[in-house]
Amino acid sequence: MLNADLHCHSIVSDGTLTPAALAQRAKANGVDLWALTDHDELDGIAEARSAAAAVGLRFMAGVEISITWSGKTVHIVGLGVDEHNAELRAGLGSVRGGRERRGREIAESLARVGIAGAFEGAMKHADNPEMLGRTHFARFLVESGVKPTVSEVFKHYLVEGKPGFVPHRWGTLEQAVGWIRGAGGRAVIAHPARYGLSELQCDALIEAFRDLGGEGIEVVTGSHTPQEYDNYARVARRTGLLASRGSDFHGTTESGADLGSLPPLPADLKPVWHDW
Ligand code: AMP
Ligand code: MN
Ligand code: MN
Ligand code: MN
Repeated sequence: MLNADLHCHSIVSDGTLTPAALAQRAKANGVDLWALTDHDELDGIAEARSAAAAVGLRFMAGVEISITWSGKTVHIVGLGVDEHNAELRAGLGSVRGGRERRGREIAESLARVGIAGAFEGAMKHADNPEMLGRTHFARFLVESGVKPTVSEVFKHYLVEGKPGFVPHRWGTLEQAVGWIRGAGGRAVIAHPARYGLSELQCDALIEAFRDLGGEGIEVVTGSHTPQEYDNYARVARRTGLLASRGSDFHGTTESGADLGSLPPLPADLKPVWHDW
């Protein structure tokens, strides 16, 4: 089976490598089909495409859109989008819009528990200031010695009920799927196990997503455990959604899975790339 890795991040959002370095790493790791899916931003696509071409790697333009659905933050990946599409670009701009203000509120919340200078500290880690996000705050908290690793930070800070969490309203499901389809892409629910949804809520999300023209769901992802691969393989079988695979690689020291390193999709599932 094709070694497809259709989910990862560069310095354009909250990854630590450039799009070109990711292309080279994907090729070196044996990836056959690669997508860059920065959060809410397409500015890495041109560099990724030319670097992929230079090493002979098949490439799809992608994006991971942050939405608020039923009070929860959910991520929708768009694959095969036209990165020049005006509505998609404008829509992503509107989703990015509130990040600076949210960052200031995150910093205020951290200041209340005695952690000063977090806004400036996080900004130093954000190559793209419009994309300031929790990962950059987490890196600042590691750098300041508050916790040893980014994943430890996310157990004690920046998540619901903990210091540094600020609720935020992102785009809607309808917008994300609409922008992706309007730009010629295929919409995929990212890492469905990560949202703390009950089975009933997950079914409701999938039904709404399909009604809007959403087509795929991530099954094998660096954000799932092997048990969760099985659970969502069953969901894909039951719903007929196309299955996707991606490492969700953010960098060499932080991510669970390296580019191209995950197990293949279960052979009976129809891959999201079946007709590419
Ligand atoms: P934001 O879009 O600013 O809310 O940041 C979300 C990002 O934080 C995700 O894309 C991940 O990169 C990171 N993140 C969230 N939860 C965790 C976690 N438990 N461990 C590591 N990174 C996480
Ligand atoms: Mn991220
Ligand atoms: Mn995500
Ligand atoms: Mn991601």
